[in-house]
Amino acid sequence: MKHRYVLLLVLLILFCRPVFADDAPINVELDTSEVPHLAQWGEEAKALIVRWHPRINNLLAIKDYKPPRQIALKIRKSDNGIGATSGTTITISSGWIEKHPEDSGLVVHELVHVIQSYPNGDPWWVTEGIADYLRWGIYEGKEQSWFPRPKEMRGYEKGYQVAAGFLLWLESDLAPGIVKKLNTAMRNGKYSDDLFMTETGKSLDDLWNEYVSLE
Ligand SMILES: [Zn+2]
Repeated sequence: MKHRYVLLLVLLILFCRPVFADDAPINVELDTSEVPHLAQWGEEAKALIVRWHPRINNLLAIKDYKPPRQIALKIRKSDNGIGATSGTTITISSGWIEKHPEDSGLVVHELVHVIQSYPNGDPWWVTEGIADYLRWGIYEGKEQSWFPRPKEMRGYEKGYQVAAGFLLWLESDLAPGIVKKLNTAMRNGKYSDDLFMTETGKSLDDLWNEYVSLE
């Protein structure tokens, strides 16, 4: 008799699991129908998304926010562009993959955009900086010296790798946790340059000047 209750309990737990979004599987719907010769590349990209979704989510974690777990990955036949994300759909151009099959990092960058799901991407350098920080700084593990550091006013506005290097420096040397805080502010539509002052005691532009003056 006792065993039946245990069995019932186990079944109940298993049955109820999908109710909790954190436990729901990450589902990637892969479409390589236009480019069947890239099907294997697509499968590897899909596996990469499944592995890196929880990692990126942990690094950016926002209380009470559950990022999309249903993602469409489409490799389209095109010689233009590299990758783009719209909502929960990641589109990658075949021409780029044919020339750069090793470029799996672009999938991580686009996956960050799915997880970010900001109400609006402004300022875009923060959106792209966070995506490239996670791609190049965390996934690719590049050293600080690898990141371009243009010595000009508000150079961080160039976004991508420039902003990523700036964020890596802030996160590693000055204000651990700042990327998570930036992400939360962006997600809640409450970003302001003042966040840098709050977190470091220095203005955004002073921080940038300090960063580009480093030896
Ligand atoms: Zn991007």
